[in-house]
Amino acid sequence: MNSITDVTNSFRRHAENFIKVLLHLIWPINCPVCGRPGEVICHECIESLFWDEIITHEAENLQIYSVSFYHTDIKDVILAFKYAGLKSICRPIGRVMGEFLPRPEGVDYIIPVPLHIDSSRKYNQAYELALGLSDIWHIEVMNPARWTKVIPNHAGLNAIERKKLSKDAFRISRDINNLSLVLVDDVCTTGTTLLRLAQVCRDSGARVKCAYTLATVSGDL
Ligand SMILES: [Zn+2]
Repeated sequence: MNSITDVTNSFRRHAENFIKVLLHLIWPINCPVCGRPGEVICHECIESLFWDEIITHEAENLQIYSVSFYHTDIKDVILAFKYAGLKSICRPIGRVMGEFLPRPEGVDYIIPVPLHIDSSRKYNQAYELALGLSDIWHIEVMNPARWTKVIPNHAGLNAIERKKLSKDAFRISRDINNLSLVLVDDVCTTGTTLLRLAQVCRDSGARVKCAYTLATVSGDL
């Protein structure tokens, strides 16, 4: 025989599902991974995209931590938020990254890799991920970096071409002297972008503790 608590819980679950379906009818949202209605993206679906353990790379003098390899499932999600306008899934993904990764200690700001100068995107996915990390870690996001020039068709460049990214690829537009920073990007391909950003931050007097990415392409950095 069901207790009153069981009946109440069951009623609550049904009511929640009913509300989700109702919301979906009014404003259709589906999790892009499992298709569940009423979810921008499910917490479990995000977790299922992560690797079992944190992936660590040492790129010259920069430690880069990633939560997944750039495999098929996560690739689809990244393409969705980069090229299909699914901005709303970035911050929730950043939050789950923040739960998965240990909170860095003694850090003043999280710095995202900036949006390319000629990008047609209306938002910066690295910034959105950084906001999600900030929600969990309670470390502020700062956006002091800018690209110095147009990088032609960056997505189409191969690993060797990306490594040629010039040392003055970024400039810093705010005073970051003496600040302790961590960097964030969505994908680490060769590590060069993060290395260049770390270098310009260090040249501006900041300490760069490490960098975080959602996914990393396997292979040498
Ligand atoms: Zn889902």
